[in-house]
Amino acid sequence: MEETIRKFKEHLAKMEAYSHAFGVLNYDSETVMPKGGSEHLGMTYAVLSEEMYKLTTSPDLKAWVKEILAHRDQVDYITRREAEELFEDMERMEKIPMAEYVEYQVVQNAASNAWHTAKVTNDFALFAPHLEKLVGYARKFAGYWNGEKAPYDVLLDTYEKGLTMATLDEFFALLRKELLPVVEAVVQKGPVVDDSFLRARFPLPKQRKLSDRLMAVLTIDRDHCNIGEVEHPFTTNFSKDDVRITTHYHERSFASSMYSVIHEGGHALYELNVGDDIKYSPLGGGASMSIHESQSRFYENIIGRSEAFLTYILPDIQKLGPKALKDVTPHDFYLAVNKSEPSLIRTEADELTYSFHVMIRYELEKQLIGGTLAVKDLPAAWNRLYKEYLGVDVPNDTQGVLQDSHWSGGSFGYFPSYALGSAYGAQMLKVMERDLPVWELVAKGDLKPIVAWLTERIYQYGRLLKPNELILKACEAPFDPRYYVDYLKDKYTRVYGL
Ligand SMILES: [Zn+2]
Repeated sequence: MEETIRKFKEHLAKMEAYSHAFGVLNYDSETVMPKGGSEHLGMTYAVLSEEMYKLTTSPDLKAWVKEILAHRDQVDYITRREAEELFEDMERMEKIPMAEYVEYQVVQNAASNAWHTAKVTNDFALFAPHLEKLVGYARKFAGYWNGEKAPYDVLLDTYEKGLTMATLDEFFALLRKELLPVVEAVVQKGPVVDDSFLRARFPLPKQRKLSDRLMAVLTIDRDHCNIGEVEHPFTTNFSKDDVRITTHYHERSFASSMYSVIHEGGHALYELNVGDDIKYSPLGGGASMSIHESQSRFYENIIGRSEAFLTYILPDIQKLGPKALKDVTPHDFYLAVNKSEPSLIRTEADELTYSFHVMIRYELEKQLIGGTLAVKDLPAAWNRLYKEYLGVDVPNDTQGVLQDSHWSGGSFGYFPSYALGSAYGAQMLKVMERDLPVWELVAKGDLKPIVAWLTERIYQYGRLLKPNELILKACEAPFDPRYYVDYLKDKYTRVYGL
């Protein structure tokens, strides 16, 4: 058994190295690679993904995993969980023929390039054939993985174990019922503050300094986390030693980057605080997209858009920022960054309307994967739902169906994570407030105890525990979306004096 475990761990280290290399290439292509490099990169991806495929489906690995699982009571918990996770990945990978898997990587790479161009040039037709292929692959792969379930349910399960359309339909129905009336009331009421100071010219070098300050408040160790600049911010992690967040600076919208940094910083805190015993293991990352989003959105919105936090950070912003910010009061700043307005862009949406952006994507991809919506009809369907739920007219596809990168990467079933994550965060807050003087700490800019609380209940476990187990640890109860609804109703009632 000892020899088996040794070989198994050696193999895992090799897989980790490939995934590290893959990740660095991917990060490089998103941040600094010149556009012309994409064909060569596609060839490299094809070679690497073939090797990854072989490593993941290696008969030796399978034999070791099976042996470990057959003696699961005799092995340590980490090894057992590694074997369990691997077994699932292997089964999934094996069901896809290798040629198709390699082909898919190339298709994905081409789709991502086409999407970039299509978004810039507002040309959905350029992206449509690529998207059709990706939808085709997603449906086909879902069929390979589990031919008995609806393909979209199979895909949802790959992002969040056990998540189904039935759960999400109920979740979004509750949000529609409880929150759409609040959205309407807010629209009726209109603006409660002049927020033009948010559009004052804030030079980029000063915004970079603000990012550094925010990272420090978040307690992020810069020796293990840096900030890249991209069009669409994201976070990449190679291990807890090397996490990279990204942001996008707009001279006349400093809050946009400010909240990107806090959001991505939340993802980073999760990765940076995984337990040392699993840091180079396949278990050394976040448990699921939803749990990840529960953290990024917790810091971005619950903490970052609270009056306590804004009162604390405003003097620093005033020191770095333009004159227009000099006389702004913390309360006005709080009202301004919590302004709610039905809008076009998900990543810029306020907390109240945010989930409806997600719901629209959920409805659309459910239909795309379910085969009831053709790719060519997607822009019209998108625009119709934006009108129906948010009351906005979509002027072009760049600000509409082409705005997000997810579908261009073949990620169908990912979007619901954003709304679920937000809801998890609100539930965690309730328990945290019982244990910690959360708002006193935030008002002092002392986030350490909050990070420690989350590390104890979530971060340290990486993927050792499953999402529902982590929710139980953090919330001491199963998921309940009522907390989220109550949190939003309470917050916007106060902000808008409803
Ligand atoms: Zn995120």
